[in-house]
Amino acid sequence: MAFAIERAECATLFDHKGRSYVDLIGGISVANLGHGHPKVLSTIREQLDKYLHVMVYGEFVESPQVRYATRLSSLLPASLNSVYFTNSGAEAVEGAMKLAKRVTNRSRIICFTGSYHGSTQGALSAIGDEYWRQAFRPLLPDVWHLPYNDPAALEAINDSTACVLMETVQAETGITVPESGWLKAVEKKCRETGALLMLDEIQAGFGRTGKLWAFEWFEVVPDVLLLGKALGGGMPLGAFIADKRLMDQLTEAPVLGHITTFGGHPLSCAAGLASLDALLEEGWIDTVKSKEALFLDRLVHPKIQSVRSFGLWMGVAFSDAQMCKRVINRCLETDKKDSVGIMTDWFLFAPNCLRIAPPLILSEKQIEWACDRILKAIDQSNP
Ligand code: PLP
Repeated sequence: MAFAIERAECATLFDHKGRSYVDLIGGISVANLGHGHPKVLSTIREQLDKYLHVMVYGEFVESPQVRYATRLSSLLPASLNSVYFTNSGAEAVEGAMKLAKRVTNRSRIICFTGSYHGSTQGALSAIGDEYWRQAFRPLLPDVWHLPYNDPAALEAINDSTACVLMETVQAETGITVPESGWLKAVEKKCRETGALLMLDEIQAGFGRTGKLWAFEWFEVVPDVLLLGKALGGGMPLGAFIADKRLMDQLTEAPVLGHITTFGGHPLSCAAGLASLDALLEEGWIDTVKSKEALFLDRLVHPKIQSVRSFGLWMGVAFSDAQMCKRVINRCLETDKKDSVGIMTDWFLFAPNCLRIAPPLILSEKQIEWACDRILKAIDQSNP
């Protein structure tokens, strides 16, 4: 896109020419609390004055890591009590896949078509779209992809399965929600066979769906939860979270089952904790459902085929990718009168869908304005 961003504040980005953009994507589901929250910035400054990197992760006790892990566990079911911080979402996926192999002594990883899990070779093996995988073979062996939302396909989960790795709600297909009871059936099958249920909430987490964790909507509890993106409050951070009984198995044979130098960087952990606390204290998650309804109410146009949404997380579908691209480009064009545009994007596996995943702090006024602007962009986007 080659935007030269000078400054970002709340839900607005400013470029080097003084133009501003209402941010409808939050750095792809990272800036859930918006940009430049004063508490996050002051916490980063405080930590900056104390120390940055002091040792490879896990060797020393670093209080930002301990405080953040403790806080995360306090907000999760009792079995998710041990946090391993990583640098990124993909590294969390890598660590979690290793954990599943180590715990079950099995190698098969079951994933689903349409899932995205990251771009490193293990995570890439797990993503459910052949176009993105094909150029990089050979990838991990024994990774199976089942059709999503298909109860019959779950028969493939058996006592050779190390884990079922899946997004709680699929993002990159333009938002696909598990049908009623299906995720529960996946959980049941995992319990019956001893496969670990690993839910990737790297994009779904931190209130985007209207609950802190997306799995709360479906009344399931994963064995391993994967977090990233908004986890770091704008700093790079990922995590896989499991029961300590499972996680402890990464401490022996080999002694350091997953090694990361910068995982759980003290600045990232301090920023992430400050961001999570502010998100909860200021009550933004409670505003998600009504803001979603406002978007859905306003985004009506004959050229919009459908709006698939789950919280402040939407795919606006057009007839084809070219139409979507034209609308995105029109949205980016700033208005001559007030120099304000809209920052939006498409989805990896659904290029015909326009992405809406804004900071949760986006105001009702901004939503109304943004929807009008999108509708205008559609009118101006004739082939
Ligand atoms: N899982 C999901 C659902 C994601 O959306 C992403 C990133 O977009 C990842 C994993 C990988 O995270 P990262 O880009 O931090 O490696």
